[in-house]
Amino acid sequence: MSDFVSVPEIFGSDVFNEATMKQRLNPQTFQAWKTCIQNGTPLELSVANEIAEAMKNWALEKGATHYTHWFQPMTGITAEKHDSFIEPSGDGRVIMEFSGSALVRGEPDASSFPSGGLRATFEARGYTAWDPTAFAFVREGSLYIPTCFFSYTGEALDKKTPLLRSIDEVSREAVRILRLFGDTETKRVTPCVGAEQEYFLLPKSLYAQREDLRLTGRTLFGATPPKGQELEDHYFGTIRTRVANFMIDLDQQLWCLGILSKTKHNEVAPCQHEMAPIYSSANSACDANQLAMQVMKKCAAKHNLVCLLHEKPFAGVNGSGKHNNWSLSTDSGKNLFSPGKTPSQNAQFLVFLSAFIKGVDEYQDFLRSTVASAGNDHRLGASEAPPAIVSIFLGDELTAVVDSIIHSTNYKDPGKSLMRIGVDVLPSIPKDTTDRNRTSPLAFTGNKFEFRMLGSSQSIAGPNIALNTIMAEVLGEFADILEKAQDFETALQKLVCDTLTQHQRIIFNGNGYSKEWEEEAKRRGLSNLRSSADCLPAYVSEKNIRLVTKRGIFTESEFRARYEIHLDAYCKMVSIEAKTSIDMVLHQILPAATAYTKDLCDTLTVKKSLSVPATAEEKLIARLSDTTNRLYEACEQLKQNMDTIPEGKEEAALYYQNVILTGMADMRKEADILEQLTAKSYWPYPTYSDLLFY
Ligand code: ADP
Ligand code: MG
Repeated sequence: MSDFVSVPEIFGSDVFNEATMKQRLNPQTFQAWKTCIQNGTPLELSVANEIAEAMKNWALEKGATHYTHWFQPMTGITAEKHDSFIEPSGDGRVIMEFSGSALVRGEPDASSFPSGGLRATFEARGYTAWDPTAFAFVREGSLYIPTCFFSYTGEALDKKTPLLRSIDEVSREAVRILRLFGDTETKRVTPCVGAEQEYFLLPKSLYAQREDLRLTGRTLFGATPPKGQELEDHYFGTIRTRVANFMIDLDQQLWCLGILSKTKHNEVAPCQHEMAPIYSSANSACDANQLAMQVMKKCAAKHNLVCLLHEKPFAGVNGSGKHNNWSLSTDSGKNLFSPGKTPSQNAQFLVFLSAFIKGVDEYQDFLRSTVASAGNDHRLGASEAPPAIVSIFLGDELTAVVDSIIHSTNYKDPGKSLMRIGVDVLPSIPKDTTDRNRTSPLAFTGNKFEFRMLGSSQSIAGPNIALNTIMAEVLGEFADILEKAQDFETALQKLVCDTLTQHQRIIFNGNGYSKEWEEEAKRRGLSNLRSSADCLPAYVSEKNIRLVTKRGIFTESEFRARYEIHLDAYCKMVSIEAKTSIDMVLHQILPAATAYTKDLCDTLTVKKSLSVPATAEEKLIARLSDTTNRLYEACEQLKQNMDTIPEGKEEAALYYQNVILTGMADMRKEADILEQLTAKSYWPYPTYSDLLFY
């Protein structure tokens, strides 16, 4: 078999990972790097020089000619600028060089990345600094070095820097709690993340014919096809050969890059698929997800397909999200969200659980804002994705435990009268219950929380920064109380019981899609921030600013800068969509409809001259003309409205949401009627049937 690949052999073969470092570095250098990542101590330049030399030699063997500081600016995607290794050797030839300082620090000319006002143009330089906790890799002839990106004054201009800060912070506070339970060993606690990635694949030839897909990543028009996802024949269905070949190729590329791609399957909507990796540390999961999204796009192109990562490429069928599975693990591999088998483990688990519940309840709006985007607005609350209301699903077993603690009432297990913290053994919480609540935005799934509100195209950094930070904050508050307690057991009982009592409103096990839940959530006082324009201002509430600054995750100006960038991105996206809609109406849809109408009119004239009945033509012409006129009016209105965008960013965002998106919907309604009235041969772009059932 010529195609045989040994997965263990190719796995990580393009990564300068720990095994390769161990092989290629001298033992002292390797140890210095290990100590650096374990204790967060800086690397000596001499050590960096040695690592750089080894990295370069390895990369050259892999065919690399360039290196790049790979970073994650606030656009949510990644950026790279490539420098070759060449240095003149003085005799008209070159040698390949790479120094420790080039590894550790770079200066991309970064004046065009969004900085939300953090960087005046006169000091436009941004700097990149190697993140030695993430592995470098070779791809398409370049050595990629994962880096942080910051301004001249040291402000974070990226998503990795605050993520690393939040990882340290939650580790520090979690270790304090572990000490209280007699754990003297654990030095670090690491947030672990597995990000399940949904995507659509379309034939490139069809995609190329749609201006909306090319410019905005989603269809702005398209009548509902005769068939959608109602037969439920795509979910977990047989994968068609063309897609299967793409998936084989994708997996091999991901494995070479050390990405633990584990699961692949068809999703609910036609043409929709998913890739889920095995979880890893939050930092590496974030890099891996960014890389996976890029590899998906490039790999699709190779197979004459296009990979759509947009949250809602098609109206009427499911959109794409990203499930962010999150847990905390000690350096010896103990999962702090595993319900323990002993009374003491039970108590410790309940402390982490109640801290999470409190944190999510108090910072619902913060979590919600981290998933806000123009694309995701089409999903959240649309009976396919979780609602815009943040709540936690615990499942029956754990809810029974929580109820018993809150009410001091009988625990449902007949053998026990009460569930006593630190005395009883927790029930086993099934990892894989079939009735898993898919409508919940944040579900406990046995030993981790699954945050399901993320959009498919977004960086997972933001939501994980929020999860780590709120967890650090509440664990810190708990540690303050428990460290001072005279009687640890009593204080612990009271803390867990009080916390669960005060924050039980955030727990909801029912149907998150239902109207009743919306009303119930309102009675409970939970926030329901429906859209980006609604929730982004909450991002910079006093409470949230206090949280992130106190925890050292963002300075106030860094945090406000992100808010500005998100608002700006939202407005720009809707603006591009509106302009694309107008363009398509004026240059494609109206001309097609009028051309068809004209031909019908010609037919009508001929038929009339022959005294042949022509009621079909007459009626069609009338309907086409009416609809065409209404479409033209709607288009004119939208154009006018686009000329009066308010100055302020917050006002602009609300205006885009309430006026522009509504105007686009009005236009789409008429355009989609025209699509159904017009003969196929006149229609200027592939329809939903063409796209989804190719
Ligand atoms: P489920 O059936 O609950 O969805 P899976 O085992 O299929 O569980 O996992 C879904 C995702 O969650 C995968 O990416 C997996 O690696 C990840 N995952 C599993 N355990 C953990 C954990 N302890 N922490 C973070 N992610 C995890
Ligand atoms: Mg899942």
